Amino acid sequence: MSETADQTPQCPDTDRSRAARADAERFDSDPLATFRRNLGSVEARIAEACARAGRDRASVRMLPITKTVPAHMLRLAFEAGLQSFGENKIQEAMLKREALSDLAIDWIIVGHLQRNKAKYLARFAREFHALDSVRLAAALDARLAREDRFLDVYLQVNTSGEASKFGLHPDALLPFVDALERFPRLRPRGLMTLALFSPDATKVRPCFALLRRLRDAAVKRNAALTALSMGMSADFETAIAEGANVVRVGQAIFGRRPTPDSHYWPGTGGAG
Ligand SMILES: *Cc1c(COP(=O)(O)O)cnc(C)c1O
Repeated sequence: MSETADQTPQCPDTDRSRAARADAERFDSDPLATFRRNLGSVEARIAEACARAGRDRASVRMLPITKTVPAHMLRLAFEAGLQSFGENKIQEAMLKREALSDLAIDWIIVGHLQRNKAKYLARFAREFHALDSVRLAAALDARLAREDRFLDVYLQVNTSGEASKFGLHPDALLPFVDALERFPRLRPRGLMTLALFSPDATKVRPCFALLRRLRDAAVKRNAALTALSMGMSADFETAIAEGANVVRVGQAIFGRRPTPDSHYWPGTGGAG
C-alpha cells in the first residue's frame, strides 16, 4: 500500500493552492475591497496628522511600499487607484515590472542597492530613496547616461545610530551633497531615513527631527534638496509632525508581511 501511495503523482495545483491560501490569509477574500478600505484609513490618518501639525495635506505624498506583495495583487492595487510602487529589492521590482508591463506604473526603489546592480535600476526606476555613497552615485550616473535617463534621488542618512542600518553618517552628509554635483544624471530631491524601530514615539521622533535639521543645512548647499522621505506604517504620523513630505507605507495597505524585517534590514531582528 505504501508503495502505491509513494507513486501517487503530486497534485499539480499544490503550489497554486498554497499560494491562494496565503493570499486569502493576507489580503482577505476580496483583496480589491481590502485595499480600498485600507487606503481610506491611511488617507484619514495622513489627513489628521497634517491637520494636527497645521500642514497642508498636499505637502505629503503617500508612497505605497509593495515588497512581498505578489504581482497579481499589485494589479488590483493599481485598479484601486495606486500608480507608483516602492520596492526594497531591485530583483523583485524587475520581476513585477515584467509581469505588469501592460500597466503604466512608476517603479521606485527604496532599499539598499549594490553597485553591480546600478545598471538595472538605471533602466527603469523613477526614483531611488537609498543613495548613500559616492561610488554608487558614480555607477548610477554612468549607467543613466548610457540609457539617456535621469533619476530623482533621496540621500539616505542613518539617524538612529544603529550599526545595522544603511545610510550616511550625519557628519558625512554635507560633503556628500557637494560631491553629487559631479553627477548630472542624478537629481537630488531630498533626504531619506529609517527611524529606530520602536513602539515608543519619544525614541522615534528624534530620528525624524535630526533628518529635518540635516535637510535645513543641506538645502543651503543644494536648493533642490527640499523633501523629507520618512515615516512608515507604524510611525508616519510622527514623521508628518516633523515635516515628512513622502511617507512610505506598506503594511497599513497590504497587510502584515510574511517575512521578518531582518530580511530587509540586517540586524533589526523584529517581526512583520
Ligand atoms: C518596507 C519598507 C517600508 C514600509 O514599511 P511598512 O512597515 O510596511 O509600512 C518603508 N521604507 C522602506 C525602505 C521599506 O523597505
